[in-house]
Amino acid sequence: MFVDKATIEIKAGKGGNGAVAFHREKYIAAGGPDGGDGGDGGDVVLVPDANMSTLMDFRYRRKYAAGNGMDGAGKRCTGKRGEDLVIKVPLGTVVRDKETGAIMADMSSVDRFVAARGGSGGWGNARFATPTRQAPRFAKAGLPGVEREIILELKLLADVGLVGFPNVGKSTLLSVVSRARPKIADYHFTTLFPNLGVVYAGEGRSFVMADIPGIIEGASEGAGLGHDFLRHIDRCRLIVHVVDASGREGRDPVEDFDIINRELREYSPVLASRPMLVAANKCDLLDGESGERLERLERHVKEAGMPFFKISAAAHMGTEELTKAIAYRLSELPPIAVFEPEFVEPEAEVELPEPEINRENGVWYVDGGWVERLVANVNFGDYESRMYFDRILRDRGVFARLEELGVEEGDTVSVCGIGFEYRR
Ligand code: GDP
Ligand code: MG
Repeated sequence: MFVDKATIEIKAGKGGNGAVAFHREKYIAAGGPDGGDGGDGGDVVLVPDANMSTLMDFRYRRKYAAGNGMDGAGKRCTGKRGEDLVIKVPLGTVVRDKETGAIMADMSSVDRFVAARGGSGGWGNARFATPTRQAPRFAKAGLPGVEREIILELKLLADVGLVGFPNVGKSTLLSVVSRARPKIADYHFTTLFPNLGVVYAGEGRSFVMADIPGIIEGASEGAGLGHDFLRHIDRCRLIVHVVDASGREGRDPVEDFDIINRELREYSPVLASRPMLVAANKCDLLDGESGERLERLERHVKEAGMPFFKISAAAHMGTEELTKAIAYRLSELPPIAVFEPEFVEPEAEVELPEPEINRENGVWYVDGGWVERLVANVNFGDYESRMYFDRILRDRGVFARLEELGVEEGDTVSVCGIGFEYRR
């Protein structure tokens, strides 16, 4: 099977710590606080790339991390922002959050998508210079960046679906036109899945063509290609109906054309509603009788208001004109079926629950809830930050709860892994 799904781990950068610093000048003993903020951590950003056609690369590299923000410094110097990590994905990739399965973005409708946001830099002590707190020795640590696993799913594979009876030359046409691209690495498809090909029709005009009847035929023979493949034709924007103009097998092209259209409507009314181009193939084999049948087909098709092309896939006749017409028609058509994002970034300031308190082997453990967030925010290397931490625990009733549970002077209390001795 071809690669059309990949799971990767992404990690945005951590914010830099805020600085504790004081202004110094000659003849002035101690100036005001001037510690700058830490820089924000870099984001992990996804960008669609129309020249990519597989998720193959993501099979070999699965971890992606953006740069961390630098710490702030004295003289109100803000730390440098962490570098964003830009990951290119094929146009039309659908991005899901692995944990919830929710769609985060459809890369056919956005220019860039921040899949993991960097942590904010911590405030430097210059920020805390209030009239009542003239010389704060207090700064905040940077916050961690978002870390998550995402699933990339490539859905926009087939812009164009080929339909037609068996043996009319669909596979031949697909192989001929998809060989005509000089630069695009589509060998993944052609080697891994012969029913799908990338067609290069000039700068920025590549499109993907799929052999839909392969499925109809396969399904009717009880050998359906299954949902994995069906997903790829969800978004066909245009149908190319291939007809055998030579009538070699004693068939009538007009009749064939109508039968296939009927079958298509039954198979998928949605697909049947797409615009259709008609390619009369095997025109290299025309004789008087088949020439007359071809004219009838042409009239029939034009009456139905569809563009008509005479080609020979095997002889490469008219295939370039057909390719150009397809590319042009596609450029006029709107992208189909954009998947609406359903993922909501967890709110940063949500009301977090109270921590749990447990006692084990004489140690009091305070874990989870808002305390976890507090611990992530506090720079424990700094005295004033520790005082702030202490005050918040007191103000929000953690000490009172410990007292109620029977904590004693000198007991060890571990708050999210940070241990200290309990003092009233
Ligand atoms: P599919 O079943 O629609 O995929 O048809 P294929 O592409 O497998 O072609 C069926 C047969 O028709 C093969 O033997 C091809 O070589 C032949 N064929 C395809 N296109 C042409 C054409 O333009 N001219 C001639 N003479 N033969 C063709
Ligand atoms: Mg075939």
